Amino acid sequence: MILRVSNKNKLIASFVVLLLIGLLASTTVAYFHVKSRLENAIQQEIQLKANVVAAKINNLTKSMIEQVEHFALHLNLSDVELGKHPGFDFFMKRHPNHSGLEYLGYVVDSDGYYGITNWQAPVDYDARNRPWYIEGKLANAARFGKPYISVDSDREALLAVTSPITQQGKFVGLATAHIKFDYVLAILRDIDFGMVGKAFLVDQNGKVDLPKIQNVDLIWQNEVKRIIKHDVRAGLKSADDSSEQLFYITKSIEHIASRLVFTVSKRAISQKVYQDTLTLLIKFLLIFVAVIITLYFSNRHILAPLFNYLELDSVTRLPSKKHFKQQVTQNFLVLNKPGRLLIISMENFNRITAAYPATTVNILKNKIKERIQLQLTKNSLLGNFSESRYIAYYQSIEDVNNELLVTMTTALSEFYEIAGVDIYCDFRIGVCDAPEYGNEVESLIDNAFSALASICRQENNTFAIFKPEMNQQFIDVQKIHNAMKKGLYAEEFSMVYQPQINTISGELFAVEALVRWHSETLGKTVSPVEFIPIAESNGLMVSLGDNIIRQVFSQVSQWNRERIVIAKVSINISPLQLLAHRFYEDLMAKVHDFDISPKQIELEITETSLLKDPNASIAILNKLSMSGFSIAIDDFGTGYSSLEYLNTMPLHKLKIDRSFVIDIDKKAKSAVLVKTIIAMAKNLDLEVLAEGVENEAEASTLQALGCDKVQGYLYSKPLTAEDLATYVMAVER
Ligand code: C2E
Ligand code: CA
Ligand code: CA
Repeated sequence: MILRVSNKNKLIASFVVLLLIGLLASTTVAYFHVKSRLENAIQQEIQLKANVVAAKINNLTKSMIEQVEHFALHLNLSDVELGKHPGFDFFMKRHPNHSGLEYLGYVVDSDGYYGITNWQAPVDYDARNRPWYIEGKLANAARFGKPYISVDSDREALLAVTSPITQQGKFVGLATAHIKFDYVLAILRDIDFGMVGKAFLVDQNGKVDLPKIQNVDLIWQNEVKRIIKHDVRAGLKSADDSSEQLFYITKSIEHIASRLVFTVSKRAISQKVYQDTLTLLIKFLLIFVAVIITLYFSNRHILAPLFNYLELDSVTRLPSKKHFKQQVTQNFLVLNKPGRLLIISMENFNRITAAYPATTVNILKNKIKERIQLQLTKNSLLGNFSESRYIAYYQSIEDVNNELLVTMTTALSEFYEIAGVDIYCDFRIGVCDAPEYGNEVESLIDNAFSALASICRQENNTFAIFKPEMNQQFIDVQKIHNAMKKGLYAEEFSMVYQPQINTISGELFAVEALVRWHSETLGKTVSPVEFIPIAESNGLMVSLGDNIIRQVFSQVSQWNRERIVIAKVSINISPLQLLAHRFYEDLMAKVHDFDISPKQIELEITETSLLKDPNASIAILNKLSMSGFSIAIDDFGTGYSSLEYLNTMPLHKLKIDRSFVIDIDKKAKSAVLVKTIIAMAKNLDLEVLAEGVENEAEASTLQALGCDKVQGYLYSKPLTAEDLATYVMAVER
């Protein structure tokens, strides 16, 4: 199956491709834009949040230190004895826990008394063994200890603040306050990094205290440790930077020897960038599709001219076949008024494309278009039907009457000069009238083609207007065509030979070979007048011609062997044969194969066919003539060519057409014409022969005019090879 892609689809496809490239490009730009924006935004965000969190924690620790110092001072200044004294419980009750304080208490160094709010110490508990006590006593100043795990819980981490109680400069114990780490954690948890970031509280060595170690993956831990070590080494209180995997900010928390680390994974950011870009891309696409759909449905007129333009032929810029059909239907046929459809066909297009480069052919196409356009009227439309055919519609039969059709074909058949070369085109026009013979464009086209096909059989016409009989004729043509194909295979074609006589000497100096066909399929004998044009217009002429040449050459070769002297055998050559590829080469090969001489062969070419493409014809005729073949012009006088012009061709013989011979004895006009032809031909040193001589009156008039070579029923009908041999013997005797 061949997929035909219309121009419209091609454009839509390239549109889509362009769009995709565009989207890709803008997405790439958007990607980098989003990326740097997002990175900046995230960095700014964590910077801000880090400041807030650090401030919160610093405030908390500051207030805790202040509270515990204040409490210690109180204990110091009071003159009550420390220890198991109800007054102290009362005192502690006046300091209810607030500002995040979980416990408040004091420890007496001498006996280990531990008074504390909210908690009942286990039986053998001695606060003096607790890490916060040991550290606090050692430091002998108000301070935070390291985070530690509560004795009655394996999970709960606490932070202790201690302040020494001194009496008369002597250390007597520690005032303590504790908060749960969870409280700090809650502050950290409040920080929402939109899933990409994490906050940690770490010690000076980078060991993560918060959140609980098991919640932090190892890579992250190591990375954080590395960052902190780097900061500590550099003596930094706070820093912001990025490592290979992270953006980070560190802040030291004054009172506890800890640091806050805020981190955002770079990978997480790029994932977010991808997501954002993808969303953007989808939005672009949706908007584009929405715009196109809206355009298409709300106002097709916006896109219609563009699509119309696309349906034009790429070379001639005329509407394509499909488009033309639509236009004719929409603009003309719906009106149901009389109109005319024309198929303007260039019959020799294949030969022209074979002979000239594509650029020349394209220029030619446009020149043809211009010539046709000169014949267009206001209410008419021209389109491209195919490479070699144009199609036109006239919304008025008068606008394109017979006269205009003649003018058109004449104008189109004038030579075209392209790059110094004259190109000849052979045009025929098939016409069909609407609505008489079709009110749909398809049937009009079909009928115009039937009309076109009918022309080939009536050689001299250049246009035909459809009549219903033509369809029957077309069917007949098809039958003959099929029968010919079979006939060629079954060797149904045979040759007859008609003598050409010199009236002065009575000698037979040549014969014309004529083809005969009795078709088994059709059950009758068909005249070459009927089947030769069909062979020509249906692509069979070259094979048929080849068959004829073989039969004639074989006959000549046989006569040579049998020593039957026939000086020259004339073969009718169709212009299609003459201009076919390798005609000359094939002919020479056959001459060689059958062992005959080109001097024995004459080639008959009709005058009209020579005039169709004189340049190409001259070239091939020159070669043939040089090789020894003689060339005769058949049907001379019907083509209105001047002898001067024919003088540029290598010719040997003129055959005066039978139409001038008929009743020449009675028609003065014919006689004058024939006399002129004979005089000029003699001047140009050409033989002259009159064909179709049927009676003595014609024969004697011709002789009187100086034409002594004749062919016709008066002397002999075309004969079979056998009969011809008998005839020759008789003449010789
Ligand atoms: P043409 O080449 O002009 O051939 C002459 C035709 O006139 C022949 O008809 C011939 O039989 C006929 N004719 C000869 N003498 C007379 C006469 O005194 N009176 C009348 N009325 N007719 C006469 P034919 O054989 O039917 O051929 C008709 C045409 O068919 C030829 O015209 C030629 O154009 C074509 N044709 C015939 N044989 C061949 C062939 O082998 N090859 C090609 N390409 N065309 C051929
Ligand atoms: Ca002939
Ligand atoms: Ca003839």
